[in-house]
Amino acid sequence: MTGSNSLLSPAEAIRQSLRTIADTPRTKLIATVGPASKSPEMLEKLIAAGVDVFRLNMAHAELDAHQQSVDAVRTAAKRVGRPVGILVDLAGPKIRLGKLLQDPMELEVGQRITFVRGDAPQSPDEFTCIYERLLDEVKPGDDIVLADGIARLVVEENHGHRALCRVIDGGTIRSRQGVNLPATKLSVPALGEIDRRNAIWAAAAGVDFISLSFVREASEIIELKQLIRSHGSDAQVVAKIEKREALDNLEGIVAATDVVMVARGDLGVEIAIEKTPLAQKRIIRTCLQFSKPVIVATQMLESMHHSKQPTRAEVSDVANAILDGADVCMLSGETAIGDYPVDAVRMMKKIMRETEQMLRGRSSRTSSKESEEQWNVLDSVMLGAAQIARRLNAKMVVIISSAAHASLVKSKQRDFVPTVCLTDLETTANRMALYWGIVPLRVDVLNDFQRMPAFVSAWAQEQAGLVKGDRMVLVLDNEFLPGVHDSVMVAEIE
Ligand code: PGA
Ligand code: MN
Repeated sequence: MTGSNSLLSPAEAIRQSLRTIADTPRTKLIATVGPASKSPEMLEKLIAAGVDVFRLNMAHAELDAHQQSVDAVRTAAKRVGRPVGILVDLAGPKIRLGKLLQDPMELEVGQRITFVRGDAPQSPDEFTCIYERLLDEVKPGDDIVLADGIARLVVEENHGHRALCRVIDGGTIRSRQGVNLPATKLSVPALGEIDRRNAIWAAAAGVDFISLSFVREASEIIELKQLIRSHGSDAQVVAKIEKREALDNLEGIVAATDVVMVARGDLGVEIAIEKTPLAQKRIIRTCLQFSKPVIVATQMLESMHHSKQPTRAEVSDVANAILDGADVCMLSGETAIGDYPVDAVRMMKKIMRETEQMLRGRSSRTSSKESEEQWNVLDSVMLGAAQIARRLNAKMVVIISSAAHASLVKSKQRDFVPTVCLTDLETTANRMALYWGIVPLRVDVLNDFQRMPAFVSAWAQEQAGLVKGDRMVLVLDNEFLPGVHDSVMVAEIE
């Protein structure tokens, strides 16, 4: 990447850039911004180490702090010279405990706890909750999981103003920690007041992706899309799959959303933890059918919060996510509050590069389940372009488009021909930062069809290190020639 180039002459540096494009891990990386990573210098280091998209977690920090992060990421990406996306993660209907009278509190198996209304418990074994309808909606037999699974209660009786519970898994809990209600059908809206305010802010801030937590059905994704569109944003929407109801409605949600996240933190509490590996595989498979990028998130390199080395199990987890077909792996606390954010990014990229060797042998695949003619044409054109590139030993496929659509289709086919997408729009370039195997590049002019081959040849020699005799396969989006679908051209450097 950057940095190491400073010792090379400009000509050598250019010759290295094609190698860099060819060697760059195809799997993309999201890093969560937090106290450990929000400084401009650290953001630059993280981009140079391989971050493609930064996540701002709305569950933490205030809007002006997030605005500062947006500005800092944009500046850092310009300085490094690479498109980087920004994902704003809406907390959704996350339920939390109220204030505990005894904090922290040790819960013992068999102990009785009572949930009461309001926010003023009268004794340490009375708990309150920020979700006002809890006592309207829990039924005897429902589980109440506290603090990401540290403790588990079962409801024994619900008298409307008091729900009597028994501890079945003990542990130490604190005020305001998370509450999951895996068996309870909640009436809480998907987009609460705070989420709506944050989404409107994110739309105005011009971020590239907006994710919604605890999605239950497709209509919630459509509601978020409508909200941000009505505020002038064309950000991509990310559905976080972390509830059993989302798994029940998976196809509909995947069809409605732009991007999917396997949000294993909450998912591992909302369904039995031992069911999460197969759920991950099913979600990834569904995303392939619908040609949607999919992110695998949470605890990927968890031990790197405080250690320079991950565990063997974590390394295998990242590798297996890639082999399952994940487009993107995400770091959470590792980069937000960890001691080694840059090491965590470097480690994840190393695992990606190494693991992808195994994918190289596999043949590329047709991705789309969509029946629209447009998708079939694109799918065929992209398969053809990659095949031509392989047969001619071309140095790369260059997609030329103002939109991200063609790159996404190419991305889901998973071939290893180095693929660069030239686009004139910053929003398109940032969006493609998330697409597996796509190297996005923003250029100024894109509208002159006649001059396009010469322009791309010049660019490839100057920026990607191609030399006389090298071939490229160009794919032009249908915006260039009226009445013609996407077209494929072979260019040779003269
Ligand atoms: P969170 O989402 O970190 O915002 O909770 C990811 C997850 O639940 O895995
Ligand atoms: Mn979550």
